[in-house]
Amino acid sequence: MEILYNSTRSKKSPVKASEAILKGLSEDGGLFVPERIPALDKSLEELSHMTYGQVAYEVMKLYLTDFTEDELKNCIEKAYDAKFDTEVIAPLAEADGAFYLELFHGATIAFKDMALSILPHLMITSAKKNNVENEIVILTATSGDTGKAALAGFADVDGTRIVVFYPKNGVSPIQEKQMVTQKGKNTYVVGIHGNFDDAQTGVKRIFGDKELAAYMETKGFQFSSANSINIGRLVPQIVYYVYSYVKLLEEGRVKEGEQINVVVPTGNFGNILAAFYAKQMGLPIDKLICASNENKVLYDFFTSGTYDRNRDFVLTSSPSMDILISSNLERLIYKIAGDDAEKNLDLMNELKQTGKYSITEEMSLQLADFYGNYASEEETAQTIHDLYDRTGYVIDTHTAVASCVYKKYKKDTGDEKTAVIASTASPYKFTRSVMNAIDNKYDDMDDFELANKLSELSGVAVPEAIKEIAAAPVLHDHICDRSEMKQTVMDFLGI
Ligand SMILES: *Cc1c(COP(=O)(O)O)cnc(C)c1O
Repeated sequence: MEILYNSTRSKKSPVKASEAILKGLSEDGGLFVPERIPALDKSLEELSHMTYGQVAYEVMKLYLTDFTEDELKNCIEKAYDAKFDTEVIAPLAEADGAFYLELFHGATIAFKDMALSILPHLMITSAKKNNVENEIVILTATSGDTGKAALAGFADVDGTRIVVFYPKNGVSPIQEKQMVTQKGKNTYVVGIHGNFDDAQTGVKRIFGDKELAAYMETKGFQFSSANSINIGRLVPQIVYYVYSYVKLLEEGRVKEGEQINVVVPTGNFGNILAAFYAKQMGLPIDKLICASNENKVLYDFFTSGTYDRNRDFVLTSSPSMDILISSNLERLIYKIAGDDAEKNLDLMNELKQTGKYSITEEMSLQLADFYGNYASEEETAQTIHDLYDRTGYVIDTHTAVASCVYKKYKKDTGDEKTAVIASTASPYKFTRSVMNAIDNKYDDMDDFELANKLSELSGVAVPEAIKEIAAAPVLHDHICDRSEMKQTVMDFLGI
């Protein structure tokens, strides 16, 4: 059955999946949401015998209903191939009574690869389907991981260009090195003076600039977004929750229909929203445990019903979660407002004007599936340390936030259901923080030595992605002010 996509901010005529993917954001500034959440149409038992690619098809076909079977299968094949260092794509590792769903086996060793290795193919296919002849300019703000994963996905893809803005002093050294060494004649990487929210706000402003869009059109360009607001990123993220459940089923770790809890280290609210959609599709998930670092806006929101971004921005050891405006939360707000765009728009305007909003009692009641908590910097480091001590398994700082919050959840509730913790980055991406947490005696080693030491401790080989950047030349060194982002894009396009 066909699924169309509505904007969260107005009741305009809905668009097809391919149009939503091309546009990224709706013209009214809203996010695209499926008009209803489709139910899985295969049993969990049937799905349990499938490969990652096959499960991906079974899930994505329900959302991208204007793609033909061939088109979608072709996109999936091109995405989940040897770029991943394991055939299972998203393996589960059991440690200390929980299952870590390792989403970092792709080209840039963070979970953004799960969606960004397929998004370029979905986008090119969408362009063809809609007879788009313009070059597509991907504009992205990144807190570190999206940028590199998007660059890797779009580099040298015909018919596209990509511009990535990152907070100059807000990403890890490895994240920065990964981005500024990016090859590809259609790539452009820019550091901005500001934090991630500044970068994201700047990008949103460029997207909302109608005059610029019209001018671009005359020059044969149009913008799109690779940020997690794009439905073409959200949908592929639903897949691995379904996949992890059916693999637990296949291995006899859960019985068909038995509920599990899912724990997600959260920033922009994309990953956990995908888990929420998976639940709505019929996947037996009980609680969605939302883990924040010291930028704990979401924890405060879940406990108080007020979203308030008026606070200091904290730079933490889990930079991909250093976010005060969680864009994808808007999709949840729209839903608990009863799919009421007007109500949602009021709240989003309030957020824009005052930096905060409160939801009604009635809306709060619909958040019972969610549990929010956070981990301090100290607790995060302690979690890495203790897990390594007890089991020898090494997790990165983001995953550690989730692991710590999961412990708090169990203590608070006594709920011992099987749990899947989304493991969002390889420890090699945040080697220094991870090694310092294990033992501060490693502090004077250089990054290269640290990686080797981590390999020795964990028994996991240093990933290609890390070896690669050690010798790679810096190809991007552009830095600009927040106010210069639009001009920077125009300069890059030569218009
Ligand atoms: C992006 C990212 C997150 C946060 O995911 P959201 O979908 O933005 O909530 C967590 N961990 C890592 C390593 C990331 O790259």
